[in-house]
Amino acid sequence: MIVVMNPGATQKDVTKITDKLKTMGYGVHLSTGENRTVIGVIGQRREEAAQAMEAMPEVEQVVFITRPFKLAGREFHPEDTVINIGNTSVGTDEVIVMAGPCAIENEDQLLQAAEAIKAAGAKVLRAGAFKPRTSPYSFQGLEKQGLQFLNEVRAKTGLLIVTEVMDQFTIDEVAECADIIQVGARNMQNYYLLRELGKIRKPVLLKRGLSATIEEWLMAAEYILSGGNYDVILCERGIRTFEPYTRNTLDLSAVPLVKQLSHLPVIVDPSHGTGLSGLVPAMSKAALAAGSDGLMIEVHPNPQEAVSDGPQSLTPDQFRNLMEELKGVAASVGRFI
Ligand code: PEP
Ligand code: MN
Repeated sequence: MIVVMNPGATQKDVTKITDKLKTMGYGVHLSTGENRTVIGVIGQRREEAAQAMEAMPEVEQVVFITRPFKLAGREFHPEDTVINIGNTSVGTDEVIVMAGPCAIENEDQLLQAAEAIKAAGAKVLRAGAFKPRTSPYSFQGLEKQGLQFLNEVRAKTGLLIVTEVMDQFTIDEVAECADIIQVGARNMQNYYLLRELGKIRKPVLLKRGLSATIEEWLMAAEYILSGGNYDVILCERGIRTFEPYTRNTLDLSAVPLVKQLSHLPVIVDPSHGTGLSGLVPAMSKAALAAGSDGLMIEVHPNPQEAVSDGPQSLTPDQFRNLMEELKGVAASVGRFI
């Protein structure tokens, strides 16, 4: 349920109400809008809480939320969430582009990719140190050494870093290096991991699971938000369907739909979404037209030699051309890159 405070409620009024709710044993989450503060109340015996709140003069109304995602939903937080990361932010008119290789292979490959994407205008470097591979015989990532390379490349380029965490045991070391922690599609329903990510204060990029419904995806976000970490970016990366010509089916309708249901920023990964570098430019443009807040694109200095996801990776030249084209698309929907 949510408690909507009176329009003129002061900080003191809000504290009075949250203290009362906490004393009654409820979890409280604040959403401070321009005109109004909304308190999300989590706990059992909601009728009891509602009665107590309706009796308070500082409270305008109590509303029961019918959707299962309470904190990720628009009812609790009507305005778009903006996440500030370093010198940039996600969820504003600026479209944020995250690009780089699927996996960190060596320092030279990472640096070349980083310099190329930076020159083309991307602000965030993506690259995996811990890789969730379908086969145990495939390259599994450079792990700790990969994180070290990321640190070095960040120092050289000033790019922000997004990299994947695979389990709850490595959160601290990944968080030390990453500006945004990526939860991969295969881990979207790893609830222990999500719970632990709710306890830290670092943005999380939550990819949609391979076969996850939109509601399951938003419930995964709810795990992180309910722990008190409100900085979650959703990433549509394609879902598995009967169609074998593409690696996944990129569900672009998810973008405007999730934006209706939730206040969280949404970005699109057309690389994993299609599996084919030739489709990435068109789907990137379509993603911006659909209202995506950003893109995650795989770029490799030499895709033919990539140890993972070469067929879906753009060359630096292809990426630079795409970034030029995207500026026009962004402008046509009132945004910029
Ligand atoms: C990745 O970003 O390299 C990755 C493994 O993505 P996903 O989890 O979407 O498959
Ligand atoms: Mn990949």
